[in-house]
Formats: sequence, C-alpha cells, structure tokens
Amino acid sequence: MNNHSQDTSVLIVGGGPTGLTAALELARHGVNCRVVERREAPSPFSRAVGIMPNTMRLLEPSGAAELIKAKSIMASGLEVYVDAERVFEMPMDRHHDPSVRLFCLPQDQTESILAQRAGELGVDVEYDKRFESLEDEGDRVRVTVDGETYAYDYVLGADGSRSTVRSELGLDAEGFDLDDEWAIADVEAPAWAEQPGLFRVYIQDEGVVVFVIPMSPTRYRVVSSRPGALSTLNVEMPIEHIYREGNFLISVRQVSDYRRGQVFLMGDAAHTHSPVGGRGMNLGIADAAHFAACYAKGTLDCYSDDRHQIGADTIAYTEKVRGTVMTPMNLTRRAALQLLNFATLIPGVPEKVTQKMVSGEF
Ligand SMILES: Cc1cc2nc3c(=O)[nH]c(=O)nc-3n(C[C@H](O)[C@H](O)[C@H](O)COP(=O)(O)OP(=O)(O)OC[C@H]3O[C@@H](n4cnc5c(N)ncnc54)[C@H](O)[C@@H]3O)c2cc1C
Repeated sequence: MNNHSQDTSVLIVGGGPTGLTAALELARHGVNCRVVERREAPSPFSRAVGIMPNTMRLLEPSGAAELIKAKSIMASGLEVYVDAERVFEMPMDRHHDPSVRLFCLPQDQTESILAQRAGELGVDVEYDKRFESLEDEGDRVRVTVDGETYAYDYVLGADGSRSTVRSELGLDAEGFDLDDEWAIADVEAPAWAEQPGLFRVYIQDEGVVVFVIPMSPTRYRVVSSRPGALSTLNVEMPIEHIYREGNFLISVRQVSDYRRGQVFLMGDAAHTHSPVGGRGMNLGIADAAHFAACYAKGTLDCYSDDRHQIGADTIAYTEKVRGTVMTPMNLTRRAALQLLNFATLIPGVPEKVTQKMVSGEF
C-alpha cells in the first residue's frame, strides 16, 4: 500500500470542471484531497461556454469567479431567426441585479482557472494517472490507480459520462440516447456580429436548429441539431479560421443514486442531457460545490437526494427547451414568437425572460 493514503482522505477521479471544482472547494475547506486525471495534459477542447450566475456565486469565495469575469465576455443579447428572418430579439445584459449575467468563456479556459486556484490552495492535478477499480471496505475505500493500491475515506467519481467509478459501483445511468447526431464547429469570424456577446438561434424547416454562441469577441461556437454544423447554417458567416468541427451524440441519462457507501458521483458521471440551455458543466460544478459544503457541515447524507432532484429538474427543463426549439416551425409558432417579441417591449419582460434563461437554479 502506498504511503500517499496516510494523509489523503478524498480521491477525486477526473480533472474536468466537476473534479476541479471539488478539489478547489474541498481544499478551501481544508480537506486533504488528490485529483487523478487519465489525460496526459489539460484538454485543449471547449465544450461548455456559458457560465451562469449561480456558478459565479459558487466560485466567488475561491476567487475563481473574479478570474473568469476578467477573461470572459458577457452575453449581451439573444436573436431568434426563422428561415433567416429575425422574429425575436432581446437584450440579456440589462437585468437590474448586476449578478444576473451570463459569462462566456471556452471550457478549457474555465478549467485552467479552476486548476490554477486549486493549485494555489495546494492541490495539483496528477495527469496521466488512470483510476482502475475500487473496493468499499466500509470506513475506507481501497482504490487502484495505474496498478498501485491506495486507501481513502471517500472517493468522488467526477470522471464523465463513461464513468469507470460508476461502473465499479454497478450503477447504470438510466435514460435514452437521441438517434440523430448533432454537430459543433468553433470558428474565428471577426466580421460576424457588430455587437459582441450576441447569441443567435436559427430555426429552420423540419426541426433543424442552429445556435451561434459567442466565445470571445471574434470566436464563435456553431451548434447544430444536424451533422455538419457549418453546412446547416442558412446565412452567410464570414469565417477566417475553423478551430475544430465534429459531430456528437446526445444521451439523456441519470443515475438513480449519487452515492454508494463512501463513494459519490457528480457531474456527467451522474447525469447527461442535451447542451440546449447550457446547463451541463454548470450543473456539475454545482454538484461538486454542494458536496464540499455537505462535507464541511457533516451533512453528506443529504448529498444524493439533494443533487438527484436538481439533476432530474434540469433534465426535464433541457428536454422541454429542446422539444420546443426542435418542433417544426409553423405559422402559429412563428406568430407566437413575434408576439413574444412585442412583449419584450413591455418594461420588466426582458428581465424576467433573462432571469429564467440564465438563472440556472441548481
Ligand atoms: C458540444 C457540447 C456543448 C456543451 N455546451 C455546454 C454549455 O454551453 N454549457 C454547459 O454548462 N455545458 C455544456 N456542455 C456539457 C459540459 O461540457 C459537460 O457537462 C462537462 O464537461 C462535464 O464536466 P465533468 O467534469 O463532469 O466531466 P468531463 O468534462 O467529461 O471530465 C471528466 C474527466 O475525467 C477523466 N477521466 C475519465 N475516466 C477516468 C479515469 N478512469 N481515471 C482518471 N480520469 C478519468 C476524463 O479524461 C475527463 O477529463 C456541452 C457538452 C457538449 C458535448
């Protein structure tokens, strides 16, 4: 048995946003922890972009929120187009409460900030270390990492949607996979929008929907409900560089229990859903922060029930939004959107809509 176990009480498996937040928040509460990550280096890829007000509030005490604010851009508005005609527009940066803002930063940069703050609090991610198996012995969990055995008081499975920790516990993420592939492209397009921070949604025939999401003043993420993101965009986008393009599948799944004995699941290891609504990373960060708060208060028994309910609510919300934006457009829906557009002229309405979109109440 490796000596590492003598003074380490929590093993965090996975150095994504969930595992990094767990490390940061546990370190802030003075808990000894270790993070193992199977990748050789931080991921250069960005999946999540939007950072919600609740996430900023959770990351405030560690100082990570301030660093995110300094590097990100703020969402300024939303425009919805049907067949290239703008039918809805709304500002997103006018809420009277200045904390109700959506910040946009590529996920790799958010992870870098979380890792930096965790490092400053004494927890560095150990890259190229693969968690292999575990055995819960009651008061301790015996774990194998890269062929070596260790023992910890607690193990956190923050190892993503194909979680090895989850399969070691014999837990299934129940739910379904969507049949159709979705697509993503990250592009440099400095001439695309005069107004930085503008989100655009293009609703087309037969339930095709394309989102153009700001990542920086000149860089955009195009997400489409059909393969080949850029080819599905029905307006001209002056692209100078394509950082990456790819297709992905969506699973809508959740484990029934986020805890087995001394082992806890969080983030994508516990739940996955469509990126519509931009909840996934935010939900994982909130799971991790809640775990650390429960640990500090001695209320770990509440963790699974608390987070399962919020995960289920989030899945229901994102599925509702996905269903709405993907329902084929007809005259009634188009008229409803135009009516909603008029409603945004009524004082207070844009604030309420923004609040709902970015509240991320989890
Ligand atoms: C196209 C796309 C767009 C998205 N957009 C958004 C968005 O706008 N907003 C949002 O909130 N969310 C978004 N998401 C979801 C978001 O990216 C995920 O929810 C988030 O990355 C989950 O974080 P995590 O740390 O739980 O898991 P992951 O990010 O998957 O991290 C898990 C880590 O565990 C490591 N690991 C796995 N197995 C082992 C092992 N055996 N040993 C050691 N390490 C291991 C992996 O290498 C990985 O680094 C999007 C997702 C996709 C696919």
